Formats: sequence, structure tokens, C-alpha cells
Amino acid sequence: MPASQLRVAMLSAHSCPVGKLGTKDTGGMSVYIREIACELGKQGHLVDVYTRVHDPKDRQIYELNQNARLIHLKAGEDEEIRKLALYSHLPDFVGSLEDFRKQNALRYDLIFSHYWLSALAGTYLQEWWHVPHITMFHTLGAVKNTINEKVSLPPGDAEPELRIETERSLVHKCHHIVAPTEREKEAFIRHYRASSEKISVVPCGVNLEQFKVLDKAQARRYLGLDNDMIILFVGRIDRLKGIDKLIEALSYLRHIPRLRLLVIGGGERSQHEIEQLQELAFNLRIQDSVAFLGLVKHEQLPYFYNAADACVIPSYYESFGLVALESLACGTPVVATDVGNHKSVVRPGKTGYVIRDNAPHRLAQKIALLLSRPDTDTRSAQLIRATVSEFSWSNIAEAITRDCRLVLANHPNLVS
Ligand code: UDP
Repeated sequence: MPASQLRVAMLSAHSCPVGKLGTKDTGGMSVYIREIACELGKQGHLVDVYTRVHDPKDRQIYELNQNARLIHLKAGEDEEIRKLALYSHLPDFVGSLEDFRKQNALRYDLIFSHYWLSALAGTYLQEWWHVPHITMFHTLGAVKNTINEKVSLPPGDAEPELRIETERSLVHKCHHIVAPTEREKEAFIRHYRASSEKISVVPCGVNLEQFKVLDKAQARRYLGLDNDMIILFVGRIDRLKGIDKLIEALSYLRHIPRLRLLVIGGGERSQHEIEQLQELAFNLRIQDSVAFLGLVKHEQLPYFYNAADACVIPSYYESFGLVALESLACGTPVVATDVGNHKSVVRPGKTGYVIRDNAPHRLAQKIALLLSRPDTDTRSAQLIRATVSEFSWSNIAEAITRDCRLVLANHPNLVS
């Protein structure tokens, strides 16, 4: 093994990194884990991503890329379960992982866990293996609850105290935390009293080979879209995404001829929410201008971003928000609320607008501004794309590697 090579056990207990993107529990975090694992692998490190078997047809081991594998472990029944139900299966998950590790004589230099459930699993492994444990929460329960109050979620849908308390103790137990934005770092400190020195800020990335500028007319032909003005929403169908506000915003824009909103994301468990949004569009008499396209494969999304005139992200909360980066990498401007990374990636007036909240009239005003811009050719799209070139996954993986080495250097007593 080359001295510089890191052997990383990546934990993603509840969400499979090759799961169906855009469904209830599978979104940006899965993209992150898959991309960062593959990129670390390309850079010569060895990465095993551990997740729970959620389908009896799952093979145990998948090669993700050179040096990066996905390993399915038995924990509870081999079927989809709700996130919180996984809590009681975590001891099984950790036990299966340790069995697999021993049977295959594997050793790891560090653990990189994702989401609080995996971070909790990681705290057992860090004790057994005597290796540092880096974690990334992707969302914080305490922050979600402050926002849930604003969107008046039914009490049963709030993040449980179990999550909040566990996250609070995890920030002290783990050796290092990666936050995707300064804002998220501050939230760790404010809500959980995490120590600032323990937290580094490393943004998420975008696959610049996959998300690129295409000919808009060709992209539209490929998708069978005609010459309508197209606004795009991409994401999980979740109250926190503010899709209802975007539909309301559309009703302020009736004067724009042939304006259509395409909503991408969904899956079986989102059917109820989609029906509610359809009803809202119907009540506002704009049902013919809103199309719910359901899940679209990540590989197909560049056609949609390229076909669109604007991508809108009306979220109440994003830990980071990959969609903005994907859209900009395809040269399509963005209107987004001031959450996650939006302020740092969108250049006002040049690549879109960031607004303070998702009030429909504010969204509508900025969407109208984008739709009226004169230069929408491939050259202007390339200029938009150039603004996010630093967010390649190779850059992000290098930053994560630097963090890993620092954490290893700071914990010389932990030897693998
Ligand atoms: N996505 C997808 N197909 C869909 C809906 C979403 O591939 O039908 C992807 C989208 O391209 C993005 C991710 O799911 O990469 C959502 O990530 P984001 O950070 O925007 O939101 P999160 O899911 O983390 O809230």
C-alpha cells in the first residue's frame, strides 16, 4: 500500500448511494457519497461505502469505480424502512460490518460517516478500530425543526428529540465534522455547542463532465418540448423545498405567454404531496402550466437543465443544495432562496438571483427578470458555467483528503 493512500470506511446506513434520486429519502447526500467515493478512488485511495440491504435483489458488493466499492450489509429485513426505524437496527448494521471486515481482513485508516444515524454507528467502530471518525450530517435536526415551525408541519412530522439529542452528543464524540457551508458550521456551534476548531467547511461539488452546456434547441427536441418558456424545479418533493410557493409565484406570471413549470422528483411515497400541489395549481387555475414529471435519472437531467430558461430553488432549507450547481454547470441561471450555498454560487444579475425568502411575489419578480434576458445563447451559457468550474468533485475530494490527513496527524495516538 503506498504511504499516501488512505483506506476509508464510508458509512451511509440509511440511504443507498445508488438509490433512486429524487425520492423521499434519497437526494443530495446520495450523490455526494457516490461522487466523493469514486473521486477518492480515482485519486488512488481505497474506499468502501457501507449501506444497509434494502432490497433482497441487492448484490452484496458493487464496484463503484476503481478502488471504490459499495457493500450492502444485513440489518433488519431486506426492504425499505423509514429512517427512524433504522435506529433500532444500527447494532445489527455495525455487527454485520465488523463481521465483513474481519472475514475480508480489511483495515481502515479512518471512518467517514454521513447523516446522524451513520455517525452513531461510526462511534462504535471508532472505539473498536482506534481510528479517527470524520462525519458530515448533511442536515441538522435542530435547524430543520426551527424551519418546520415556519411551514407549520404537523407535530408528528417534526424531527424527534432522539435525533436532536443524538446529534448533540455526536458533535463531541466524533473527531472531526465537515460542514458544507459557513452557515452550517455556525449552526453546529449555535445549536449543539460544537467546538469551532473541530469543523472545517468544504463545499459539495458537481460532476462537470456530466452537467455541461448543450445546444438548447437540441435538448428541447430530445425531450419533446416545444418553444414554451420553461421554468424547472428539481428535487425531492418535500415541504421544505417550498414547491407550493413556486406554484403560487407562477400565478403572478400569467401574462407571460406559453410559460410552463416542470417539476422533477417524486416517487411512490410522494404521491400525496404531489396531489396537494396539483390541487393548488388547479385552484389557482394554472394547472395546464404545471407538469409533474416524476423521477428523472441523474444522467438525463442535463437535458432538462439545458432545455430550461430558469431553474428555481424556492427551499426553506438546504444544507448545501446541489441543484443550483448542476443548473449553473449547464449554463442555466437560477433563482434561489438565501439558504445553503446559494449566496456563494449564484452571482446576482449575472447567473441568477438569490432572494431572502420564497415569498411568491419575490420569486415571480426575479423569474420574470431572468426570462426577459436577451442573451441566452451557448456563449452566455458557457460564461455561466465558468463561474462554477472550481466545484469539480476532484477539487472537493482533494479538500476532503487534506482534512483526513490533518485529522490523522492530530490524533497520532489512534493507530490503525
Ligand atoms: N435528483 C435526480 N432526479 C430527480 C430529482 C432529483 O437525480 O428526479 C437529484 C438532483 O439532481 C440532485 C439531488 O437529487 O443531485 C438533490 O440534491 P439537493 O442537494 O439539491 O437536495 P437534497 O436532496 O439534498 O435536499
